[in-house]
Amino acid sequence: MCKANSCFWTKFTPGFPTMGEIDLKIAVLSGKGGTGKTFVSVNLAAAAESAVYVDCDVEEPNGHLFFRPNQLAEETVAVQVPAVDPELCTGCRKCVEFCRYGALAHNGSTLMIFANICHSCGGCVLVCPEKALAERDKPIGKVQRGVSGSVQCLSGILNIGEPSGVPLIQKLLDNVEDSSESVFIDCPPGSACIVMESIKDADYCILVTEPTLYGVHNLKLVWELVKLFQKPCGVVINKVLPGENLAENFCSARDIKVLARIPFSHELGLFISQGKIAVRKDPEIRAAFLDLLAVISEEVHRETAAYS
Ligand code: SF4
Ligand code: SF4
Repeated sequence: MCKANSCFWTKFTPGFPTMGEIDLKIAVLSGKGGTGKTFVSVNLAAAAESAVYVDCDVEEPNGHLFFRPNQLAEETVAVQVPAVDPELCTGCRKCVEFCRYGALAHNGSTLMIFANICHSCGGCVLVCPEKALAERDKPIGKVQRGVSGSVQCLSGILNIGEPSGVPLIQKLLDNVEDSSESVFIDCPPGSACIVMESIKDADYCILVTEPTLYGVHNLKLVWELVKLFQKPCGVVINKVLPGENLAENFCSARDIKVLARIPFSHELGLFISQGKIAVRKDPEIRAAFLDLLAVISEEVHRETAAYS
């Protein structure tokens, strides 16, 4: 049996509203893949029971491998790109000069449109004096919905080769904008624009890291990002072994709250490799994640009180 609910986990203060009594949007981030971000977000959503899990890691969504949702429904997500009417185009190149992304070129006889690098700003359509350009839909991926127990699961799946998952993430988060349940957002790894899009409406950010030098390097990147967005945040240190913990030192030097220290555990590793949700299999781990939810709830209240 894993000692998941031992002293590794931060204890909460009784008396604060629990996650079930308030509806929060919690973003779970990490500076790199493989840190345990999906493990943490999936288990938090499953422990909260009545919750929404949103997989915004649209280039490599894997939350569904754990939840295995049923009642699946899919919706295609498209962006708009220009299409030219060659009969109307005079070759003036005004659209080519306008496009900052190099998505248009004119070879003297034909306007060429590179839809894969178009950012759908619509500007070329507006500047064309001949009204030779119009917008057409270009599918970039899909949003998948399903249910696993009492957790609603949403995943975004970006088509291979698409330059940006931002429109897909916007679509995913539009779906949960007015959710009456707590929402757990499994963000893409790193600190690029798709991560910014994933956290912009979050009430609180959980930064998942490992206790290594590489872990701290990546933690610094995401911590600086959430600071930029002025989001309250706390850290979950995953795969903790006895001995020096560089992530702990980093947090302590900057007064960053450590929400939980998850021990390195063969049992947890086995659950993950088998696609099992640990809190649904082990009451001790479930209790530990319920404690973590309570700590997050307490942190959000402290932050809210500090700003009110
Ligand atoms: S919509 Fe914007 S990004 Fe796309 S081709 Fe036109 S100007 Fe370029
Ligand atoms: S601005 Fe219009 S007319 Fe000029 S090259 Fe572009 S599509 Fe053709």
